[in-house]
Amino acid sequence: MPHTKLFIPGPVEVSAATMAAMTQPMIGHRSKDFQNLYGRIMPMLQQLFVTSQPVFISTSSAWGVMEGSIRNLVAKKVLNCCCGAFSDKWYDVSLACGKQAEALRVPWGQPITPEAVDAALSKGGFDAITVVHSETSTGVLNPLREIAEVVRKYPDVLLITDTVSSFSTVPIPFDELGLDVMLLGVQKALALPPGMALFAASNRAFERAATMQDRGYYFDFIEFRKNAENLMTPSTPVIPLIYALESKLNEIFAEGLDARFERHARLNRLVHDWVDRHGFGYLPPDGFRSKALTCVHNTREIDTAAFVSALKKDFNFAIDGGYGKIKGTTFRISNMGDETDATMAELISALDATAAKLGF
Ligand SMILES: *Cc1c(COP(=O)(O)O)cnc(C)c1O
Repeated sequence: MPHTKLFIPGPVEVSAATMAAMTQPMIGHRSKDFQNLYGRIMPMLQQLFVTSQPVFISTSSAWGVMEGSIRNLVAKKVLNCCCGAFSDKWYDVSLACGKQAEALRVPWGQPITPEAVDAALSKGGFDAITVVHSETSTGVLNPLREIAEVVRKYPDVLLITDTVSSFSTVPIPFDELGLDVMLLGVQKALALPPGMALFAASNRAFERAATMQDRGYYFDFIEFRKNAENLMTPSTPVIPLIYALESKLNEIFAEGLDARFERHARLNRLVHDWVDRHGFGYLPPDGFRSKALTCVHNTREIDTAAFVSALKKDFNFAIDGGYGKIKGTTFRISNMGDETDATMAELISALDATAAKLGF
């Protein structure tokens, strides 16, 4: 079907195979059929999370679990690491949940450093920290392993990690890193339609959640764990997206995880080659750039809105003209999901042709 192909950093293009998988017949969510479906998916998700914990299916976008993590786990005070639109908003969400929160802020485009986390946590009083691994608004990939090592020095502090645009593009071993929550929405790196989130939690996280009086119902971690023991979800889940997830997981394991990581790195490099060739910069410093998307620093001061609209008009490709306060000074190109060398080559020749047309 002719349509605008999405190279924005989420939602991304959804394949015909994924769409077809969603149209399987409906089943009851308390049926053996559902348990069989979740039972087939669970071990694949555990392999992707590299965890022996159950992986939960939440019928919400990522923000549901991001808010839920705050409600389930913050008893005293949370340190929200803020380095872009999503991580900044997590601080606002903590306050909106009535929690004590402190923002550890770096300028948009810069990563969160383990040293800054250590300095903030050493002041004491915190029992949770939020980190966005790949800050999709700025293209920054934060040094999660190093941050996690620092956080582990503070035994009361639970590490809540958003991996929305990094999950399955780089290895993120949940158990080994000692994360306490890892969450993602399915419309980014997994290339499913929006409306579902996945997450895992540590035993320490469940222990904390069990003591929380006001963790609510819809995102109650204890309810998720209890239901998952029975291969079910607390409330009626978005079953078509779970069909799509099974189909996607089968594709992922057919490709192989290492091949998938390598593909994302390689396709990301193709975008970087284009950026270099046209003399632009990058918002994040070298060594802290997401493998799933590129946040281009508009150092040549082109008219990004004109670029985005010409690319759409002439080629029906959508890229993003920059998020919030960095609209226009940056633009973003996604390479996550099902993209291949061939589909990225098509995009790159369209970017070249559009640049030539606009005279840059
Ligand atoms: C997209 C995104 C979110 C929010 O996802 P929703 O699906 O809108 O809830 C959160 N964090 C990051 C890093 C994202 O890229």
